[in-house]
Amino acid sequence: MHNPTTEILKPYSINNDNKIEFVGGHGFSNHKRHLILNREFGSSILIDHEHYQQLKNKIPTDDLQFKLIQRGFMKVPGSHECQSEESILPKFFIIDLTQACNFRCTYCFRHLEKESKTISTKVLDSIIDYIADYCGKTNQREIHIQPWGGEPLIAWDKICRIQDRLKGKGITSIITIESNASLITKKLAKEAYQRDIRIGVSIDGLEEIHNLQRRLANGKPSYDKMIQGMMNLREGGYGIRHGIISVFTKNSLPHLEEMLEFFAVELKVDRFKLNIVKDSPVMKDKGLCLSNSEIKDFQLRLLKKLIELNKRGYPIIELNVLDKLQNILNRNKSNICISRGCMGGKKMIAFDMDGRIFPCDITDYKEEAVGSIFDGKELITLLEKAHKEKDFFSEKTSELCTDCPWWFFCKGGCTTAIKYKKGVVKGVDAAECVSNRTLYPELVKLILNEPEMVKVLTKNKLEIV
Ligand code: SF4
Ligand code: SF4
Repeated sequence: MHNPTTEILKPYSINNDNKIEFVGGHGFSNHKRHLILNREFGSSILIDHEHYQQLKNKIPTDDLQFKLIQRGFMKVPGSHECQSEESILPKFFIIDLTQACNFRCTYCFRHLEKESKTISTKVLDSIIDYIADYCGKTNQREIHIQPWGGEPLIAWDKICRIQDRLKGKGITSIITIESNASLITKKLAKEAYQRDIRIGVSIDGLEEIHNLQRRLANGKPSYDKMIQGMMNLREGGYGIRHGIISVFTKNSLPHLEEMLEFFAVELKVDRFKLNIVKDSPVMKDKGLCLSNSEIKDFQLRLLKKLIELNKRGYPIIELNVLDKLQNILNRNKSNICISRGCMGGKKMIAFDMDGRIFPCDITDYKEEAVGSIFDGKELITLLEKAHKEKDFFSEKTSELCTDCPWWFFCKGGCTTAIKYKKGVVKGVDAAECVSNRTLYPELVKLILNEPEMVKVLTKNKLEIV
C-alpha cells in the first residue's frame, strides 16, 4: 500500500454575497481518493478527485458546499458551529474500592506491599449518594461505574452494593471491571452475568510472558488461575463476550504476532485491548517500557497482524484501533477517556476510599483532588474551580502539536501518564503522541486503499460505500 500524500488546505472565502468561508483542513490523498480532516473539530469527509480539485480551486459546487457545511468545513452566517471543547458533565465514575491485591505485577505503580485497605461501607454509601444526587440534578438516568483497585473483585460485595443502591435510586449503572480473574468462581461469574456486569480479564498474552509479568503475591505464576477464572466466566454465561486487556511491554514486543494468534485462534476472542505499559518513577522494572521506535514498530505490526487475521477468517479487533478508526470517520467518542483529548475531570472522575474526588484515577497524587464528597459542594462547582486552579488541567502541548492533524482526538494525550512520568503536567504524553502519529496515518491509508477493511475492523459499525 502506498502512503497517502498530505497537504494543509488553507482557509479561504468564496466571493459571493453569502459570505461562505472554507475553514481549511488536512487533505490526505491516494489513488485519486481524498480524506479531509478538521483538526479543530475532528470532523472528516471522504471525497472523490473531481470534488477535491473543485475545493482546492475554490469553486466547490453547491452540493459539495452543503456537505462541507454539515461537517464543519464551511461556514455561512447562521450555520451551526461545531464545538471543539467538551462540557463538564461526568458520566464515568471510578471508585477505588480496595488497595488489596493477590497479585504483584511487575509494572504496577500502586504501593501494594503494605496496603490491604478496603473502602468502608459508610464512605461507599456516601459516594453512591453523592453520585445519585449529582445525577438527579443533571437529569442522568444511566451512568458508567468502574470499581477500581487493587483487585476489585476482592470487594465483590461492595460492587453489588453500588449497583443495588443506585438502582434503588432509579439510576442504571453500567459496571465495568478489569480483573486478574483469579477470584472468578463459577458462582461469581453467574451472578456477575445476571447483573449484566462487564468483566475484562487481564492477560499478558502467552503463558510465559504472563507468568513473568503477573505473579501472585506469594511469588508463584498466575496463568493457570487466570485461565480457570476466564473459563468460569465463559461457563457463567459470558461465552467469549468478556473483555481481554493486556499490558504490552518490551517483553511482549518480539511475540506480538504470536500473542494475537493466541487470542484469535486459541482463546477465540473477537476483541481485546492492548495498553502500552506506562512509565512511572515507582515502576520496579524500568526495562519494560518501550522506546519511541518500539512503539512505532508495535503499532504498525499490530495493524498488519489484525488485517491478516481478519483476512484469514478470524474476526478479531483491538479496541484502541477501533476507537481511532471511529474517531477519524465519525468522531463518535467511542472512548470516553480520550476520544477528544483527555476527558479526566470533564466526563470522567474518580473517588478514593476517603471520599476525595479526583479528575481521573490519580489518587496517588492527593494534591490533584478537586475536593471531597464531604465538602458540601456540588460536583460541577468543584470541577469548574479545579479547571481554573489545578495542575491536572494545564494545557498540554508541544511544538509538534501546532499543525498536528490528530489534535482534536489527542490534545497532548493522557494527563495521568504525564503526571506519573514527570511528576507535573507539562509537555505531552510522549508515548500516546508516537502512537497517534504512527497509527492514525496508517488508518487513513487503510481507509483510502482498502476501504472494505473498515467494516471488518469496526465490527460492522462503519462501512465506506
Ligand atoms: S501530542 Fe503528538 S499526536 Fe498529540 S496532538 Fe500533539 S503532536 Fe499530535
Ligand atoms: S488522565 Fe488519561 S486515563 Fe484519565 S481520563 Fe485523561 S486520558 Fe483518560
